[in-house]
Amino acid sequence: MKDTGKICKAVGLLSGGLDSAIAAKLLLDQGIEVHAVHVSMPWGCGDPGRVRRLAEKLHIPMKIIPLADDYLAVLQHPKYGFGSAHNPCIDCHIYMVKKAAAYMQEIGASFVFTGEVLGQRPMSQRRQCLGWVEDDALVPGRLLRPLCAKLLAPTIPEQEGLVDRERLLDISGRSRKVQYRLVKELGIEGFSAPGGGCLLTEKLFGARLKDVLARGCPDIASTAVLGLGRYFRLDAGAFVLLGRDAHENEELLKRAMPTDILLRPAAFPGPVALVRGGDIHDNRLTLAAGLAQFYSKSREAGPLPLACWRADAPADVREIMSVRVHEADVKRMLL
Ligand code: SF4
Repeated sequence: MKDTGKICKAVGLLSGGLDSAIAAKLLLDQGIEVHAVHVSMPWGCGDPGRVRRLAEKLHIPMKIIPLADDYLAVLQHPKYGFGSAHNPCIDCHIYMVKKAAAYMQEIGASFVFTGEVLGQRPMSQRRQCLGWVEDDALVPGRLLRPLCAKLLAPTIPEQEGLVDRERLLDISGRSRKVQYRLVKELGIEGFSAPGGGCLLTEKLFGARLKDVLARGCPDIASTAVLGLGRYFRLDAGAFVLLGRDAHENEELLKRAMPTDILLRPAAFPGPVALVRGGDIHDNRLTLAAGLAQFYSKSREAGPLPLACWRADAPADVREIMSVRVHEADVKRMLL
């Protein structure tokens, strides 16, 4: 590596998994000043706290960037399409690399890096896709993949001698045998197990998201509840979410948007219901109350009261009586 007398800075996408942690460590071990960026999803998948702890263990500063409204376009019209669920992985990578590239410019870093491995994922880590990500994120020559760099054309930081190509790797494929050996050798701890974690790759979540996007979703924050509970389409304009346990009930209360209506059983143990969309009239609320009762031990009882309030007016509580909901109705509405 050329001694330029200047400290070389790089910005890496840290997912919390072992690949990006190894990528960061390989560069740290070359004396590069590494900064991490983590794009956090609003749906509760991934754990920014855990990523932060991993960054601390690696002794690198870390910036968490919450997914913003510009991601809605990625969810609606991804240039490179979806994977097997509602996962626009190639466009999502482009989005994240763009965020890292903006931070690279902000702090005067020389390049961006990721933990991508050639051929590890069928959709987004084919050779051609890696090129698309680099081009569309507008970082030509400045996107380094330390784990498979030797299988790719040299990047500008390698050509300029800021990074020693010989100390980068040539990993390809889906097996993570080499990575597991490396984390031991490099002393990396606290990473998440590979695979899973992204709700966009789950078909059920994708169907909910699609349903909400089709009705015109104003912002990314309003999708934050979609990973929770049971989801019922009341009609084209509204949906109900029911918590499945105490944790989800609390999360629904926490993540409700100001205009959402919340219902909580007043006289029997049962789930919290969140109602959203269009004109929320009493017929919808009694139906939502009936759904909450259906998923309680009081399913067979007659009409029962639920406390009901608008999320932005928690002191203004009124009572809604449930209507009887039949199994066939539940099946028709459940998504
Ligand atoms: S798995 Fe999820 S977070 Fe990862 S690239 Fe695909 S859509 Fe984005």
